Amino acid sequence: KNLPYFCRGEVVRGFGRGSKELGILTANFTDSVVELLPGDISTGIYYGWACVDNGDIHKMVMSIGCNPYYNNAKKSMETHVIHTFKEDFYGQILSVVLVGYIRPERSYDSLDALIAAINHDIEEAKRKLDLPEHLKLKKDNFFIASA
Ligand code: ADP
Ligand code: MG
Repeated sequence: KNLPYFCRGEVVRGFGRGSKELGILTANFTDSVVELLPGDISTGIYYGWACVDNGDIHKMVMSIGCNPYYNNAKKSMETHVIHTFKEDFYGQILSVVLVGYIRPERSYDSLDALIAAINHDIEEAKRKLDLPEHLKLKKDNFFIASA
């Protein structure tokens, strides 16, 4: 019921796990963006649209929560943009709209199982975002206004 949810903020450094261990980069929002989340938004994996500064709008998957596999104490919002960027974008403004919910967070027995689950989420996000009702949000003024 909180969807679609629009937000934007600065990309900050996380634990540096994305690239090293998972091979899947996840851009972390500043705490101020995390604190603005509605209190009743479910933790878990979401899909939606994202853009960096005034760049193109890409599909994304986002995890909201405490990453049970790693057991972090603090809630985070980590976005994997489904696009290959030439460079990092730390310090830049990431704008996202959360469009749909994929699944709750859970822990995994192995890193391979976690990676497989994320890749599965990415495929589901790609498919779902091609639906007309979701493509529509890509054209939302929210992204135009940030240009
Ligand atoms: P951190 O722990 O600092 O989040 P990661 O290894 O998860 O480190 O890498 C995330 C960083 O990689 C992002 O902050 C961003 O600057 C960069 N990056 C490059 N391509 C992408 C992408 N497709 N999706 C998310 N982040 C990306
Ligand atoms: Mg990360």
